[in-house]
Amino acid sequence: MSFNTIGLSAELLRAVAEEGYRDPTPIQRQVIPAILEGRDIMAGAQTGTGKTAGFTLPLLQRLSARAEGGSRRVIRTLILTPTRELAAQVEESVRTYSKYLPLKSAVIFGGVNINPQIEQLRRGIDILVATPGRLLDHVGQRTLDLSRVEILVLDEADRMLDMGFIRDIRRILALLPRQRQNLLFCATLSDEIKQLADDLLGSPTLIQATRRNTAAEGVSHVIHPVDRERKRALLSFLIASGSWRQVLVFTRTKHGANRLAQQLQRDGIRAAAIHGNKSQAARTRALADFKRGEVRVLVATDIAARGLDIEELPHVVNFELPNGAEHYVHRIGRTGRAGKEGDAVSLVCVDENGLLKDIERLLGREIPKVVIPGYEPDRSLKAEPIRDSRAASRGARERSGRDTGNRHRGRASPLNATAAGRGN
Ligand code: AMP
Repeated sequence: MSFNTIGLSAELLRAVAEEGYRDPTPIQRQVIPAILEGRDIMAGAQTGTGKTAGFTLPLLQRLSARAEGGSRRVIRTLILTPTRELAAQVEESVRTYSKYLPLKSAVIFGGVNINPQIEQLRRGIDILVATPGRLLDHVGQRTLDLSRVEILVLDEADRMLDMGFIRDIRRILALLPRQRQNLLFCATLSDEIKQLADDLLGSPTLIQATRRNTAAEGVSHVIHPVDRERKRALLSFLIASGSWRQVLVFTRTKHGANRLAQQLQRDGIRAAAIHGNKSQAARTRALADFKRGEVRVLVATDIAARGLDIEELPHVVNFELPNGAEHYVHRIGRTGRAGKEGDAVSLVCVDENGLLKDIERLLGREIPKVVIPGYEPDRSLKAEPIRDSRAASRGARERSGRDTGNRHRGRASPLNATAAGRGN
């Protein structure tokens, strides 16, 4: 199926052609016709599948087909995303695809001055992309009217649940008209998310897309077993010996991201960290420097990196394995996009063997293990528990020797773990 027969208007097809897309991706083939028909959908689709165009193109078509009569613009589509970066990227896509349509969009998220956003909303927009917290700030200030929303998109809904946005989402849904079209996108279709969709949205049509570049295709995975204290040296070695020009590196904690970026700088490798504690301006700057090639290594936490659309990224490194196996899939979704080849390299120390097993179970196969000469792991080292970052830094100083048992929230970077007297 080509774009020309999928049912989109000439204005949209022109914008699509200018982006250089030839054919719709598998998810787009499924969701575009369903959305054009006005159906509620729930789609399992990760970043990299073309999901953003998948919901944006048909919703633009529906909005433009039923132009509002009134002189003032009202918010007719609300797109909620978990993070600021994703919100900004989605709105950029909305702008791109709507450039030949008389529709206006805006993005609002926290961490930046609210006043320009208020001014933008006051001037009137048709499509609003927002993160839940800042959206509710605007609701509280009565700077926003959601009573005319026709289409709601929950993008990366599973992530929003993980991040604890469920109450915010319920509050926002209560402000929308009952009669509306609901589009829910999530990376993994868990029972929990299906239950949520049933509660919140009625019974949408279920669409499960295969990834354009699945974990199996395009991306080669490798594990380098290494001791926890030698990970940084190995990373510097891999970057230098492989002449990697651009690499996205994941750490589990913000502190770990900062520390690693600093250490790489000391090794003479230009690096920047991007995480939730950085101001929006700093994050945007780091991303822009990285895209321009001025920064060679972008070190990111999962939340900050989620949804980053960095094209043609050849290397993704898991400096530490993520806590949830599904995060591994999200992380490597950053490489091997659009049919390009990519490497997903994981530096795994003895502490992380359990996490690795979970990942391999999810992928349904073992990931090849390659020991790098000179970085062979010391087999006499015992696994240490990986702990929550706050517990780890507190524990290291105050508790010397006692595991805080704070496991349910995630685990700390091995960089934070001190060997001092921690038995198991
Ligand atoms: P997404 O999954 O929405 O984050 O999109 C991933 C990337 O795929 C983005 O860089 C899009 O510009 C690109 N893309 C979306 N649709 C297509 C298509 N039909 N053909 C080629 N690239 C596409």
